[in-house]
Amino acid sequence: MDKYEKVKKIGEGSFGKAILVKSKDDGHQYVIKEIGISGMSSKERQESRKEVAVLASMSHPNIVQYKESFEEGGCLYIVMDYCEGGDLLKKINSQKGVLFSEEQILDWFVQICLALKHVHDRKILHRDIKSQNIFLTKDGTVQLGDFGIARVLNRYAHCCLNSPAVFH
Ligand code: ADP
Ligand code: MG
Repeated sequence: MDKYEKVKKIGEGSFGKAILVKSKDDGHQYVIKEIGISGMSSKERQESRKEVAVLASMSHPNIVQYKESFEEGGCLYIVMDYCEGGDLLKKINSQKGVLFSEEQILDWFVQICLALKHVHDRKILHRDIKSQNIFLTKDGTVQLGDFGIARVLNRYAHCCLNSPAVFH
């Protein structure tokens, strides 16, 4: 963590915290997900490390860009690009009922389809697609993120594995 300066906490989930930081190396802002792994079973620890491997294996304009990861003081840290526009659920709520244009929705929809194609081509299932896990960059691009419960498909994963559908 010495390479990064903490700016503020921007999210908290079951996993731990999402922290906005500034890199001392390049001066850019990044988001670090801090996952407490010391109290976990070794199986859970492996799952957390898998999120890192899944994210690191992807590179696409519509997927949150992974930078690096490290383990320190019982925590796993995942460094990724900061999406300045926040998540899509926050964006929807800030509209206060004002509808987005059809053109805007289609534009986002196509970008998410492109991201999913990239994910599925690598035999990975995201399993948690929802507005809270879709992020907006400052130039209006949308990016799929939060691969926390993603699964790598193998020959045994032939049945339905998914979280309850939540539509926002
Ligand atoms: P979880 O859903 O497991 O709590 P997320 O990765 O979805 O973890 O992060 C939680 C929240 O933190 C997001 O909904 C978002 O508000 C914020 N966040 C996470 N990553 C980023 C990012 N790269 N850029 C901007 N905000 C982020
Ligand atoms: Mg999430």
